[in-house]
Amino acid sequence: RNPASAAQSPKMGTKKKIAIMTSGGDSPGMNAAVRACVRMAIHMGCDAYCVYEGYEGLVRGGDYIRRMEWYDVRGWLSEGGTLIGTARCMAFFERAGRLTAAKNMILNGIDALIICGGDGSLTGADRFRSEWPSLLEELVATGEIKKEQVGQYAHLNIVGLVGSIDNDLSGTDATIGCYSALARICYAVDLIEATASSHSRAFVIEVMGRHCGWLALMAGVATGADFIFIPEKPREDNWRDEMCNIVRHHRKLGKRKTIVIIAEGALDREGNKITPDMVKDLLADKKGLALDTRITTLGHVQRGGTAVAYDRMLGTLQGVEAVKAVLEATPGTPTCFIAITENKITRKPLMQAVMDTKEVAKAIERQDFEMAMSLRDAEFSEQYKSFMMTTAVQVDKELMLPEKERMKIGFINVGAPAGGMNAAVRAGVAYCLSRGHEPIAIHNGFAGFARHHGDKPLGAVRPFNWLEVDGWASKGGSEIGTNRELPSESGIETVANLIEQYEFDALFLVGGFEAFHAVSQLRKARDQYPSLCIPMTLLPATISNNVPGTEYSLGSDTCLNELVDYCDKIKQSASATRRRVFVIETQGGRSGYVATLGGLGVGASAVYTPEEGLSLDMLAADVRHLKDVFAHDKGQSRAGRLILINEKASKVYNAKLIADILRDEAHGRFESREGIPGHMQQGGVPSPMDRSRAVRLAIRCIQHLEKWGRNAHNKVKMDPMSASVIGIKGASIVFTPVKKLEEEETDWPNRRPKAAFWLGMKEIVDVLGGRPAYQKPE
Ligand code: ATP
Repeated sequence: RNPASAAQSPKMGTKKKIAIMTSGGDSPGMNAAVRACVRMAIHMGCDAYCVYEGYEGLVRGGDYIRRMEWYDVRGWLSEGGTLIGTARCMAFFERAGRLTAAKNMILNGIDALIICGGDGSLTGADRFRSEWPSLLEELVATGEIKKEQVGQYAHLNIVGLVGSIDNDLSGTDATIGCYSALARICYAVDLIEATASSHSRAFVIEVMGRHCGWLALMAGVATGADFIFIPEKPREDNWRDEMCNIVRHHRKLGKRKTIVIIAEGALDREGNKITPDMVKDLLADKKGLALDTRITTLGHVQRGGTAVAYDRMLGTLQGVEAVKAVLEATPGTPTCFIAITENKITRKPLMQAVMDTKEVAKAIERQDFEMAMSLRDAEFSEQYKSFMMTTAVQVDKELMLPEKERMKIGFINVGAPAGGMNAAVRAGVAYCLSRGHEPIAIHNGFAGFARHHGDKPLGAVRPFNWLEVDGWASKGGSEIGTNRELPSESGIETVANLIEQYEFDALFLVGGFEAFHAVSQLRKARDQYPSLCIPMTLLPATISNNVPGTEYSLGSDTCLNELVDYCDKIKQSASATRRRVFVIETQGGRSGYVATLGGLGVGASAVYTPEEGLSLDMLAADVRHLKDVFAHDKGQSRAGRLILINEKASKVYNAKLIADILRDEAHGRFESREGIPGHMQQGGVPSPMDRSRAVRLAIRCIQHLEKWGRNAHNKVKMDPMSASVIGIKGASIVFTPVKKLEEEETDWPNRRPKAAFWLGMKEIVDVLGGRPAYQKPE
């Protein structure tokens, strides 16, 4: 039972027996999904089962179908692969196999099945569901089960979770595991780049993806590769010339390394396979580029390792949603799978997604590549365009705008460094150069901008060149320098004069809450200083993820990965002592986002946020709960327990004090320690998600600025969108006017948005961590 709610009764309808299984190729994050399903099912008063070894276990029955208890899934978040096993099961392709599977389900009394796997597994699931009534009929007719046994099982309640490293299912932006695989690929490419650059070599890197180029595409975007090959979008017939031209162009500009990423399933427009050897021969051709070229096939390392924070979050939230979907399903509800669109978890019809996915493969087969691309989600084709824009800079002359529409755009970083800032600047610069704009670096934020000697600037403002930014895709920190100073501190008049002096037509800001505040100040000063009537847009980048107008800021994913990594290690360090609670202080300013999402990724026993605050009574309740847990512990508490506290959750209680209180209260039953990862949370190398989103969002920002053109002072003044923040909100990417955000959506004293979209996740951390719901005293 859930130790937090031992007396819980089923919340909806009758008590159900819910089984979960993993099937097809394993992927990181599957364990998070299984843990969430098991615990959520128990929490809702149901019985949880695991089917081991995928459909093979369902066909074999017996010990392959096991009842799971709360503690059986403890520590699973940080484990790679799938702990309940997976298999490719030939028997399930046959009706006879599915018949036995149906019988095993009924004999075990299972009335709902959650399947986590790729498109094959979900196709199998859908087939099983559609055949279900006839399977039952046959089982009754042959006397394998009695007619009375059929009763409550007349409809098969199935929910799909998409677990796959390929990200190949239509209808969802991400599958559980794809960002972990992408992280392994980018890590490998980053390593290879160093040697490629040293020897001025070319590398052809083959990544997984037989029918889906997502991994190759996103790796290309995130690492700033020179060229990619994916199945859905073969290059033109002259792909050989096209690739060589781009590589030659890059080399001519001074680039010392060449990286080409190729998906396993890469094809040309006639449907012929393009192999790494073919690409290598081209690059190495003595009469052509004559590059010293090597091939690296990444293979199974792409599957390996523990899940990144995002996959843990996705597996967990989707697992919880799957159990809810099971409990809410009626015989009339269409079978669904759990998807994610941008930042929103949704239920979608399973069959449609399976059909669309199959259509992609068919479209590729009949060489209808436009159809193949259109069946992928919107992000896919946008990222493809982003990639081409940033690699084929100034190669495609058709992208160039007419002379009079070209703009001078200032780039400025404001606030603390955050992962993805450089990737955003790089992409913005590359896009500008493709269009004929003039991208200008403003070094060290507004403080750097305003640092002048008399009339002369101190070199803080200068044009970018492509070669310098090209290497920034994977760089942490801020290469152009960032600073927290606001325009009001540097002098708004000085800033306004400088904008006039440099004749900027637009300003592109990348930064956190200070950057938002800066745009707000400049916008408000427009009446006084007409030079400020230029379009300005902010791409939020801060690990605290506290910028109004978005649910996601660049750098927050990198930060969560660092935090989860740190917590995993800390937790493991206690595996010898067993009974230890770690109280970890997280960054995040007055936003509890990092603490909460970190808690979700590591399975925290409690999370303290500034939004909720921390009272003596709440702390006492948690101390009582932990004492209780350890008092009844029968060795389940291998490795430590974690409490995450945001640095500003309380004016009184900090990590050390809470650890001291716990130690004192524990009377030797358990130990406690504090841990402060501090600036480590800003991360070293930014995560692939931060890098790839940086590229996509930065290009959108410049496209947004571009709409105003030059000399648009009057238009700008009238249009609230001329000072805006780009953001991911729910299922969409939106620009919101800063004026609206300032006035309606900003909690100024606490420097965060008024509404925190993630508050519901805190409840999930509590439920899955077994923390009793806290009741404020009257
Ligand atoms: P990955 O994305 O890693 O390839 P997957 O789920 O697509 O994962 P598959 O090997 O295609 O992996 O499918 C896993 C299992 O699902 C198969 O071994 C089989 O048992 C079952 N399955 C797949 N397709 C069908 C089908 N058409 N009918 C019945 N069962 C199927």
